[in-house]
Amino acid sequence: MSNKNGVLYVVATPIGNLGDLSARAQQILSQSDVIVAEDTRHSRRLLHHFGINTPLLAMHEHNERETCGRLIAQLQEGARIALISDAGTPLVSDPGFHLVREAHGAGIPVSPIPGPSAALAALSAAGLASDRFVFEGFLPAKRIARRQRLQALAQETRTLIFYEAPHRIVECLEDIAACMGEQREATLARELTKLHETIRKNSVGELCTWVSADPEQQLGEIVLVVAGAPAALSVEEVELLNVLQPLLAQLPLKQAVALTTEITGGNRNAIYERALQLKSEEKNAD
Ligand code: SAM
Repeated sequence: MSNKNGVLYVVATPIGNLGDLSARAQQILSQSDVIVAEDTRHSRRLLHHFGINTPLLAMHEHNERETCGRLIAQLQEGARIALISDAGTPLVSDPGFHLVREAHGAGIPVSPIPGPSAALAALSAAGLASDRFVFEGFLPAKRIARRQRLQALAQETRTLIFYEAPHRIVECLEDIAACMGEQREATLARELTKLHETIRKNSVGELCTWVSADPEQQLGEIVLVVAGAPAALSVEEVELLNVLQPLLAQLPLKQAVALTTEITGGNRNAIYERALQLKSEEKNAD
């Protein structure tokens, strides 16, 4: 394997607001020998805006495998190649996987230039648990397949992130309501970083009613962030709650804890902590 210091840069570009192209991305794009893009006409406009004149080469889903061979040969000769997509981070529901994999296979360094991605932008503003999440990309376009996928995800406890086409958003929300329940919380993030940016958090049922009634919400680019399913309780937890909850409703906390400890034979401190948690959940729900 020969490698005269060629590097493949994976460069994130804006998802709407041109101000989001980082200074480092501009520098790398200017200094590369070639920029590999999905739609060269689209990317030329972006590059023109920043005065970047690096030659562009088209690589999309249909020619990725063939183009890869040529690019790997150039990288092995020492070329610095930047990979971009139409918007956001390449490889995130966008082409580039084969090229990156082949570069690794050929021992060529691959370096990310991080920046915008609609999935993380939506998650960061969604107001839903973000410590663990699953990126699902696009759901199947056909209803039966979409419902099957949603059924398979219905018990997933991590937050779910979906990309969705605007003309399918109503059907998609209907299907999420059918498979995960109308009460499941979700955030619709539309036209992020653009003039008509809209972020709305509500139950899936309410979101569906709102989007159905307002055609404007069925336009543009959309990310749906859906809360995970509540974690399933263990048998021990269910048994404990069956005793503790009714006692807490009738008695002062310390007495309810003492009686529950006696009845279940559980650890007093753990039951006390659980009782405090239940009280605070009750207060937050009021
Ligand atoms: N690689 C891109 C990324 O990192 O986000 C995603 C490309 S994927 C082909 C395009 C989808 O991303 C859109 O259909 C939409 O679901 C989502 N998307 C892209 N830009 C967006 C934006 N400004 N606001 C909301 N969603 C966006």
